[in-house]
Amino acid sequence: MSYCTSRFHTVRRPTLEVKVGAVGVGGANPLRIQSMTTSDTQDVDATVRQAIALAEVGCEIVRITAPNVQAARCLKDIRARFSAAGFSHVPLVADIHFLPQAAMEAVEHVEKVRVNPGNYADKKKFAVREYSDADYERELQRLHDAFSPLVKRARELGRALRIGTNHGSLSDRIMNRYGDTPLGMVESALEFLRIGQSHGFDQMILSMKASNPKVMIQAYRLLVARMNEEQMHYPLHLGVTEAGDGEDGRIKSAIGIGSLLLDGLGDTIRVSLTEDSVYEIPVARALAQKAMALWSADAARTPVPPDAIDPYRYTKRETPVVSLAPACAVGPDLPPRVMVRAASVADLAASAQALGSPRLVDTPAEGLIVPVASAADFAALHTVPALPVRFLVLELVATLSPDVVAAGLAGTKAPLVLLHAFGQADGSRLERLADLARQGGHTLAVATTAGAIPALGPVLAARADVPLLITLAEAALTAPAHTVGAYRALADALRVAGLRAPLWIRSTAGTAIQRENTFLSKLLEASILAGSLLCDGLGDALSIETEADVQRATTLAYNVLQGAGARISKTEFVACPSCGRTLFDLQTTTQRIREKTGHLKGVKIAIMGCIVNGPGEMADADFGYVGGAPGKINLYVGKTCVQYNLPQAEADDRLIALIKEHGRWVEPRPVTVA
Ligand code: SF4
Repeated sequence: MSYCTSRFHTVRRPTLEVKVGAVGVGGANPLRIQSMTTSDTQDVDATVRQAIALAEVGCEIVRITAPNVQAARCLKDIRARFSAAGFSHVPLVADIHFLPQAAMEAVEHVEKVRVNPGNYADKKKFAVREYSDADYERELQRLHDAFSPLVKRARELGRALRIGTNHGSLSDRIMNRYGDTPLGMVESALEFLRIGQSHGFDQMILSMKASNPKVMIQAYRLLVARMNEEQMHYPLHLGVTEAGDGEDGRIKSAIGIGSLLLDGLGDTIRVSLTEDSVYEIPVARALAQKAMALWSADAARTPVPPDAIDPYRYTKRETPVVSLAPACAVGPDLPPRVMVRAASVADLAASAQALGSPRLVDTPAEGLIVPVASAADFAALHTVPALPVRFLVLELVATLSPDVVAAGLAGTKAPLVLLHAFGQADGSRLERLADLARQGGHTLAVATTAGAIPALGPVLAARADVPLLITLAEAALTAPAHTVGAYRALADALRVAGLRAPLWIRSTAGTAIQRENTFLSKLLEASILAGSLLCDGLGDALSIETEADVQRATTLAYNVLQGAGARISKTEFVACPSCGRTLFDLQTTTQRIREKTGHLKGVKIAIMGCIVNGPGEMADADFGYVGGAPGKINLYVGKTCVQYNLPQAEADDRLIALIKEHGRWVEPRPVTVA
């Protein structure tokens, strides 16, 4: 099965064009940006206001929830007033869960209807039931009968449909046969697609959202592979659901959406943040621009043989354990290590002071990279005070002779990591530096490319006793390959050469798709690069070297690792973006709960706006805080509701009590910030 033309270049997947009103999605159209209103849909004034605000900041498609038939009827008025305000060209989408009657009403008024195949015709009861083949066929017929009227009406009216599958809300029937898996998500969507096709209807867009980027990435890849088998070419709507807010929400979205965009998948994107929807648009636009910048690359459309990674199942690449410093190693069962960069040897003291901040006590930088360009730099290293990191990485510039390095190292203290770039003609230099590393008890970090590995491999194999890290030499990056592809190619070349050295991911100005000096751009670049690789099982160390502030660079690296599920250093929050069903103020509630519980490393807390969808969508959270009724909260342990209808004023304390009861609470560590 193949899901993309190339894992090394961004070759856009060809799709048919789906017209959402005047806006074409897929085909030769640019990536479309979309978002969703969060007001009560029956509050027509507020919903029109929000739709206008979104359109004014560049949202090209606006989605509105229609939780019942009355709300769906309001879409008529909303459409008319939105058009009268000058936005007739911006299509509206009705978001439907559970109620086919609401969908049938909504399709009369708006350009697209989104249905969730997990609950359109199926009830979700979390019931375990055995389905015989005959039962299953009967269920499919029932599904056909329930969905066909909407398909036929959409075809008559020229509307589009989105089959919007969510990992957390698969039907019992699908769960019974496929489990809570990417395969279950895909099968769920295919059932609906086939019904659409049986009526000669092709204006369908697909999504496979999950709050876990790894699950989401695998589900989209699998969907495309299955569609390719069945000659289906429908466009994709990409999104990570319940991504949360702030830096974490942006990182998770960039990991999931960005890695698929790099693979050439995706035609419209929504970044779901637990913030006012207008803040989603700049993030979505930046991601789209980065991807579309790669589309312009002159990549061939002929399929490129993939690397050896199974793109549908996560497996961490096998490596030996390599010690970088006492009690600080990399390896298959160890978390990726975090490094940051000082601008120069002269900067080391300032960096050391910043990295010693109590803010970083739970998320310390473990390595500090410093460029070394001369004998004077080596001499200056001797005067540097003790550093609050486990090891120092000396980035040896290419012009430094091995003799100067040898003399410089003579006076330094281990542990060091010696980082140097090697091309295919640098075998003898590599031999010399490997020998120096072995003599000094240091690690050698080889920056190179896939193309150089056949020449350098035998040298490295002959020095198997030298602790080794491998990273990408950015100078060798050539268009149209992207950096994720270059790392994948490097890992594959190592595999072919029989080398298992751990891989160090470096986000630098040279690896960026677009070099912009904004924190958002740096965050997105690092998230796309590291997230794509980590979700493929590649990466044993990470440095984000585009951010000069070493404290921010450290925190960002930990947040990217957490977003990719590679290293958990704090509480994981799954917060829905809110919509017209939301029963409490999600933004302030999320912030408040984060303040109280943000120190619970490894605990996953879901904050969901409604009971209708919340419990399904909160997926694999340990604890859930879910709107049960206006002013009332239900608390969950896993998928089980354990406390109903608590007054909201009491709910935070009861949640903490519940976490304590289950032995997951620790007292926050007092932090004094100088
Ligand atoms: S869980 Fe949140 S986003 Fe999903 S339907 Fe409920 S309120 Fe809306």
